[in-house]
Amino acid sequence: MEDSYRDRGSSGGMVSWVAAELLQRGLVDGIAHVAPADPDAGGRFFRYSISRDLDALNRGAKSRYYPVDMAGILEEIRAVPGRYAIVGIPCFIKSVHLTCAQDTVLRERIVFTLGLVCGHMKSRNMVESFGWQMGVDVRDVARVEYRLKDPSRPANWYRAQLSCRNGEERQQDWWHLVDGDWGSGFFQNSACDFCDDVVAETADISFGDAWVEPYSSDGRGTNVVVVRSPEIHALLRNGMEQGRVALSPVDAGFVRETQAAGFRQRREGLAYRLGWARRDVKPRKRVHSGHHHLGWRRKLIYRLRYMISRGSSGAFQLAKRLGRPGIFMAWGRLMLKLYHGVTYSRGRLGAAFDWAERRLG
Ligand SMILES: Cc1cc2nc3c(=O)[nH]c(=O)nc-3n(C[C@H](O)[C@H](O)[C@H](O)COP(=O)(O)OP(=O)(O)OC[C@H]3O[C@@H](n4cnc5c(N)ncnc54)[C@H](O)[C@@H]3O)c2cc1C
Ligand code: SF4
Repeated sequence: MEDSYRDRGSSGGMVSWVAAELLQRGLVDGIAHVAPADPDAGGRFFRYSISRDLDALNRGAKSRYYPVDMAGILEEIRAVPGRYAIVGIPCFIKSVHLTCAQDTVLRERIVFTLGLVCGHMKSRNMVESFGWQMGVDVRDVARVEYRLKDPSRPANWYRAQLSCRNGEERQQDWWHLVDGDWGSGFFQNSACDFCDDVVAETADISFGDAWVEPYSSDGRGTNVVVVRSPEIHALLRNGMEQGRVALSPVDAGFVRETQAAGFRQRREGLAYRLGWARRDVKPRKRVHSGHHHLGWRRKLIYRLRYMISRGSSGAFQLAKRLGRPGIFMAWGRLMLKLYHGVTYSRGRLGAAFDWAERRLG
């Protein structure tokens, strides 16, 4: 079975809602998810942890575009008997299933998987780069918020916040940050170039954002949910009947539309990349290498994204080593100008690409 819903902006984060239901109804003893960490204890801003009550669960809400690993929580699940749910991006959920296939203890204890729709993962360097641009040294940062919620602004106007150890808070909209155009691929993990799972297909339930109008302009944020587990479906229906959660059924086409960019990048974009990116690896994917139907401008967009995702780490490392963040900013601004010209027809470059497209077809 597979059913899809859109929440009506009144339910808060749907992941947290479902996870809370699982805990409160005693269906699980713990939820493994990504929560803020103390950077002094391990140098990381986020890590996987297991929440066993609602307070801990709520402290871990919100999206974290930060690399993490599951080794610690898998150890804890092995060591502490109980039933667990794991929240994760598609590749992590798939890894959980593969691990469970070989580990009977984990298989018995991990009873639900809650998947997050995923565009790509960022590297931890992004936090430091945000710091450069907000005038904060990353060593002085105590907490990171990638997306502040503000009901008075469209949900797709991301605003990041860095909270400093001295209590100061710095905020900036993503579009004012050189690496803040999500689609351009700054600091993208290289594995994401070969990923074809957008909606966490192997999870019991998947959650995403409704990136179509009018929902993307609704500052409360609107989730889309794809449910595949009868038990979790029953929880949702119960919540709807009792008026504790407001969901409307939608079809698969609606969900697909909300993730149109993600599907383009990991269907036609992936088929194109398979032909030339990383010739040393030949992953088997649901799409085959091919690009005959793509125009030159579309190909250029995929090439540029690839260049930006690979080049941003190099430019960042060089700037850091030389103690000159300006090197990264200058490189980033140049690449962004090019990307925006090709992709959105912005500026003089955009006009030049439009002209070339009219001439060349
Ligand atoms: C790297 C990444 C890329 C994403 N890309 C897209 C996209 O392209 N399109 C889209 O529609 N949605 C994307 N999402 C999902 C989206 O940002 C929301 O997480 C999702 O819609 C659920 O929102 P919510 O308000 O219900 O979450 P909340 O109720 O706030 O709960 C979020 C839950 O997810 C957990 N969590 C946060 N980050 C991670 C992580 N990295 N790994 C494991 N658990 C985590 C939190 O601990 C919390 O329990 C992405 C998320 C991530 C982490
Ligand atoms: S795009 Fe795919 S490989 Fe990359 S983080 Fe998301 S699920 Fe994992």
